[in-house]
Amino acid sequence: MILVTRSSLPPLEEYIAEIQDIWDTHWLTNMGPKHKAFEAALKAYLGVPHVQLVTNGHMALELTLQALDLPRGSEVITTPFTFASTTHAIVRNGLEPVFCDIDPNTFTVDASKIEPLITERTSAILPVHVYGNLCDVEAIDKIAKKHHLKVVYDAAHTFGETLAGRGAGTFGDASCFSFHATKVFNSIEGGAVTFADPALGERLYQLKNFGIKGPESVVGVGANAKMNEFCAAMGLCNLRHVDAEIAKRQAVAARYRERLSGVPGLQLNAQQPQVRPNCGYFPVLFDPAVFGHTRDEVFAALAAQGVNARKYFYPLTNAFECFQGRFDPAKTPVAQTAAARVLTLPLYADLPLAEADRICDIVLGLK
Ligand SMILES: *Cc1c(COP(=O)(O)O)cnc(C)c1O
Repeated sequence: MILVTRSSLPPLEEYIAEIQDIWDTHWLTNMGPKHKAFEAALKAYLGVPHVQLVTNGHMALELTLQALDLPRGSEVITTPFTFASTTHAIVRNGLEPVFCDIDPNTFTVDASKIEPLITERTSAILPVHVYGNLCDVEAIDKIAKKHHLKVVYDAAHTFGETLAGRGAGTFGDASCFSFHATKVFNSIEGGAVTFADPALGERLYQLKNFGIKGPESVVGVGANAKMNEFCAAMGLCNLRHVDAEIAKRQAVAARYRERLSGVPGLQLNAQQPQVRPNCGYFPVLFDPAVFGHTRDEVFAALAAQGVNARKYFYPLTNAFECFQGRFDPAKTPVAQTAAARVLTLPLYADLPLAEADRICDIVLGLK
């Protein structure tokens, strides 16, 4: 049985050494020494001016939207081709998602379709760097400046990526990372917000700790989203190995690309010229009219051989049952087509190349 991903773990002895001092200090959470050390290490690795650690990527999104103090009920332009978290963070903040269609090659928001969606109720744009493909950050920045909108990037897929050498977390007002077990880099569960404005950091620091400013001062209706010391320790360990993990992922992705590129009816992920990719995902889109098989047929063929691929992202968030009747997925047809055709193939650092070959054999055997 091959699963779609496999969490990275440091050598056990390394983690034990890292958590040793927790037994000396008895400091388990509430921004202890591991939390501080992990934040500093991330700041350096990601090449960003400021970092706030949180419990997970979802809380990064939810608290960032809250920290920006967007008018209640205002509209946030976003993408439906994403994980549930992105849209839920908007809705749970009492904001209204407005869905923009995506670019057919990068699967990120099609920046040329943003402006027609802007109304006087628009307050922000929340694009997603899907599969590690960076959004058109320059165009989005221009639109945001022109219309005085905030920009928050869902950067859950972009850990360690750079655009022309610049950290992926340096664009917009803030970028939200996920360190979930299934991501390229994990702290078991975890997340972070990167940003340039220190005032935003102060708000986030308070909001992740119940809105507490001081022992007798509560200034915000915050949540509890403090990363604990054990997660921070795991993050510190995994950070030492992440470049090696990405290099191994690259080898697997290169094998998939070698075997599957040029096959009629298959669309592989874009390769962006100035981007250092982290190879977090290997999406393949199956055009049934050309390939002769639907995505679901390929999914079933792989499953029959013990290979667990994933329909990621499917369904679109604007088609979720919890939003029944509220949005119209037909208004984002490019995203609709991508969601109907996409399958992400198993990809993790230790996936043997022979297994990647076997997976390609199953797919190509359907032709
Ligand atoms: C994983 C993910 C999230 C949520 O992160 P968690 O750490 O699981 O809360 C948000 N957006 C995207 C695109 C993701 O892939």
